[in-house]
Amino acid sequence: MPGLEDLYREIILDHYRNPRNRGELTAPPATIVEGHNPLCGDEITLHLLVKDGVVADVKTAGQGCSISQSSASMMTQAVIGRTVAEARAVIHRFKHMMSIEDHHHDEPVEAPALGDLEALQGVVKFPVRIKCAVLAWNTLSQALDEAGA
Ligand code: ZN
Repeated sequence: MPGLEDLYREIILDHYRNPRNRGELTAPPATIVEGHNPLCGDEITLHLLVKDGVVADVKTAGQGCSISQSSASMMTQAVIGRTVAEARAVIHRFKHMMSIEDHHHDEPVEAPALGDLEALQGVVKFPVRIKCAVLAWNTLSQALDEAGA
């Protein structure tokens, strides 16, 4: 049996208690997308600002379990300042780590290291929580699409 310590690593709790980049951006120019994970009751409202092909800023609001909220916090840190192509590569890399997407053979750019996000790797042992972990990422992906980025 996998232990709970895998799920609630220190780093996850830190992001849950002190979420980074919480808040809102003005739309337009920002794009606002809402995501839900009905299985767990997680909600996220993601505010994305893309400027000149770069993820200039991301803010999130919402509520949910520690996995969903800490993943959102780490996601903002992983993509702000990245090019849109790099941000999409990070999304693919994260989903690959969550075992829900095959690694892409022909990534246009090398995905940056996941850093803190590696802490969420233990979630893979709890399939029901994977949807919590990927909620923010699917919402970001949708926001990039809607922003035409
Ligand atoms: Zn959840």
